[in-house]
Amino acid sequence: MNMHIRKTITEIKRNSRVKVKNENGACFICKQTRRIIDSHTVPKFVLKNISLDGKLLTTKILNYHPFMKEEVGKNEAGVFNLLCAECDSTMFRDYENPDNYESEPSKKMLAQIALKCALKGFYRSSRLVANHDVIRERVGSTEDFFMDSDMANRGQDKADFKTLVAESSRAIDSKWEEYNVLYFEKLKHVVPFACQESITLAVDLNDKIINDVYNLCGKIQFLFVCIFPLEQGSIALLFYKKHKKGVSNKYDIFRKQFNKLNVTEKQKLISYIAFKESEDVLCNPTKRSFLAKNKEVLQAARDQGIISVEVINGRVNYDQRTAEIVKIKSLQAYKNFPNLLADNP
Ligand SMILES: [Zn+2]
Repeated sequence: MNMHIRKTITEIKRNSRVKVKNENGACFICKQTRRIIDSHTVPKFVLKNISLDGKLLTTKILNYHPFMKEEVGKNEAGVFNLLCAECDSTMFRDYENPDNYESEPSKKMLAQIALKCALKGFYRSSRLVANHDVIRERVGSTEDFFMDSDMANRGQDKADFKTLVAESSRAIDSKWEEYNVLYFEKLKHVVPFACQESITLAVDLNDKIINDVYNLCGKIQFLFVCIFPLEQGSIALLFYKKHKKGVSNKYDIFRKQFNKLNVTEKQKLISYIAFKESEDVLCNPTKRSFLAKNKEVLQAARDQGIISVEVINGRVNYDQRTAEIVKIKSLQAYKNFPNLLADNP
C-alpha cells in the first residue's frame, strides 16, 4: 500500500475515533464524565494462551481489508473505547475469571458476555458511521459509492446494538433465566483461535430465513459465539436470548436442526460460523500457514461482512432479496470446513 493511502487511512481512523469519543462524552454504563479506557472484547486471560511473543493474527491474513492489520498485540486486539476503568473492571468480573468454567456458565456470566459483545458492536458500528462521515467531509458527496445506503444499515446496526446493551445490562441482575445455551463444551485441548461475538444468523441449515438482515424495519435477534482457549483446554459456547412467553424465537428451528448434528458436525459448524460471521477472530500465529493455505477457511473469511450491492441499493423485490441473502449467507459450506475445535485440526 502506498504511503499516501496509508497516511490517509490513519488520519480517517484517528478522526473517527475522536468523533465517537465526543459523541458519547461520558462512560457508556455509569454516564459519569470519566477517562475512557481501552476495553478488550476477548479477555486477556484467553488471548495470552494463543499469542506468540505477545502477538495474534487477525483474519486480514485471509482477506484484504485496508483498515485492518495482519498482526495485533494482545493489548490492541478487539479494543473498544466506551467505558471508564471502574465499569470495565467490575461489570465483567464473573465471566473474566478462568476458574468459572468448570461447568456451564451462570446466567450472570452469559449476560456479562452479551453486554460486552453489545458494547463492542455498538462501538464498531459507531466507528464505521464516523469513518463514513469523515470521508464525506473530505471528498464531498459519497452517494456514488453506494456508501450512503450501506450507512443506513450501519446506522440501524448502531441502534440495534444500543438496544442490546440496555437489554443485556438488565439481564445481569435479572432473577429469570434470560438465555438459551445452544452449545457448551469444555474441550481438553487448546484450540488455535479465539472469538467473542454477537452475530445475526441470516439463514438456518435449510436455507430458510432466520433474520431478514436487509430489512431496516425488521427486528433481528443475536446469537452469541464464544471460543475461549484456556491455559489447558478450551471453551466453546453458543447461546441466545430467550423471548418472552408466547413470542416465537427466531432460533427455535435452527436449534432443532443443530441438536440433530453429531459432535464433529456441530464443531465444524461453529468454526465456520465464527470465521464467516465474526469480524474479530484472533488466531494463533503458529497456525498461519495452515489457515492461509486452507481454501475453505480463506473462502469463509472472504465472505465475512460481504454485502449485496443490489439489495443495499433497493433494486430488488422481496423474493430476489431472499434469494440474495441465501446466496451470500448460506451455511451449507460448513460441511467441508475444517473442524478447528478438534484436537490438532
Ligand atoms: Zn463507568
